[in-house]
Amino acid sequence: MGNTISNGPMLNSYPDSMGGNLDFISDLLCSEDMKGAFSSYYILPSLYHSDLDRGFSVIDYGINEEIASRNALEKIKSEGIGLKLDIILNHASVQSPQFQDLLKNGENSKYRDFFIDWNKFWEGHGKMNSEGYIEPDPELIKDMFFRKPGLPILMVDFPDGRSVPYWNTFYQEVWEEDGKKKYLGQMDLNINSSLVWDFYEDTLKTLASYGAKIVRLDAFAYAPKAVGRKNFLNEPETWDLLEKIKSIAEPLGLTLLPEIHDAYDAKIYEKVASKGYMTYDFFLPGLIIDALSRKDGSVLTKWAKEISEKKIKTVNMLGCHDGIPVLDLKGLLNDEQIQNLIKTITDRGGMIKNLHGQKNVYYQVNSTYYSALGEEDDAMLLARAIQMFMPGKPQVWYLDLFNGKNDYEAVKRAGAGGHKEINRTNLIASEVEEKLKTDAVKKQIELLRFRNSCPAFGFDSDFSCSSDGGNIIMSWKNGASEATLRADLCTYKYDITVK
Ligand code: BGC
Repeated sequence: MGNTISNGPMLNSYPDSMGGNLDFISDLLCSEDMKGAFSSYYILPSLYHSDLDRGFSVIDYGINEEIASRNALEKIKSEGIGLKLDIILNHASVQSPQFQDLLKNGENSKYRDFFIDWNKFWEGHGKMNSEGYIEPDPELIKDMFFRKPGLPILMVDFPDGRSVPYWNTFYQEVWEEDGKKKYLGQMDLNINSSLVWDFYEDTLKTLASYGAKIVRLDAFAYAPKAVGRKNFLNEPETWDLLEKIKSIAEPLGLTLLPEIHDAYDAKIYEKVASKGYMTYDFFLPGLIIDALSRKDGSVLTKWAKEISEKKIKTVNMLGCHDGIPVLDLKGLLNDEQIQNLIKTITDRGGMIKNLHGQKNVYYQVNSTYYSALGEEDDAMLLARAIQMFMPGKPQVWYLDLFNGKNDYEAVKRAGAGGHKEINRTNLIASEVEEKLKTDAVKKQIELLRFRNSCPAFGFDSDFSCSSDGGNIIMSWKNGASEATLRADLCTYKYDITVK
């Protein structure tokens, strides 16, 4: 039995993105300014105790009381707003109690195999080098997918004086302090350990207790690993992993939203959906910018029709905590159109980071959505209106709601690898209050309220759309209720009719 999720709009932010903490945000959601605009809220994982990667390196899933409180969570729940929260299946922080136990007790730690000992994993499949880690045979490495240069290893000091390499796909920081090596890192979990499964189960129960309805499975495709494989979306192991997680999550009332980026061509979104999961629409952000720049909505409407015809349950967005996905668009847009899209966003101040190892393949462009649209209020409002009429559950990045601009200072402050900070500016209470008075923000909230309350929209409603190039029409019908958007991509004007 699946759990039912409303298709109403979902706010998305860090717990401290507005007014410094979640208490401010919970008050805001209940205030006259925002009441009725959202039916869900995706709180990013700095809600938990975490260190690196603004939340995605979890120490433990307890509430980070410095920026969030149980009271605030209760308040959000009593407003009828369900939460979307992350479980990070692939990794946990070096500072997690499990990894700390490993550091303290080494060979004798209960958590010796909770993480992935690189040398044990590759034993018999490569050569030990002078640094003390195995270099896997070249034919085993050549098709593997890595997120950073070099092998994904963190050398960890054991109490017996040995340095042991552990698998570390994502971020790490290593530095010297008082003559001692210090490190932080997102340490990959060993899904073959029963203790990891106990941990997953405890975590899902904890998330349900916080009011989670949707659980985002962060970077899940990296979790299953085997010698001689790509080690990203190994099949069928990745689907087996999801099934097993689902069997724990469903009885807790949780709906799973696996997070994966791949080219449209690869049809992974379709596979995720066919297996009964909600799936991300990572195409929409790029397609809207493309449609507005080329004054042509035909690809956008083609994609909208496909979602509706195949009955794919999506969560879509304009901006989010990561960049605007572009790699995903391969197959929907041609290479030239993708290059032009990247150019448009970077000409407007966006930043790109090469996906390691693949020349000229860009993963995401980092920018606020408003800046990516050329900082034009009408373009932003039209983008929001189109999002409201797309099939799927619309997720709304807080900074987009306030027409946030690229934050170059934050990028500088964050140093190397800090490009994502361009779109993560925290707003202080007075900034939020001031912006809420502006027409641009009020109009966006009006659209959200409309989407949240109009009965025409729904996962099972009838949807139709068309485009003659410069114009788009999108219509919803559910019983006697109808809603239609007519949008002009040249003038950015639109009109909504309701029956
Ligand atoms: C998140 C990123 C994060 C990564 C590692 C991604 O899926 O969206 O923000 O850096 O997972 O956890």
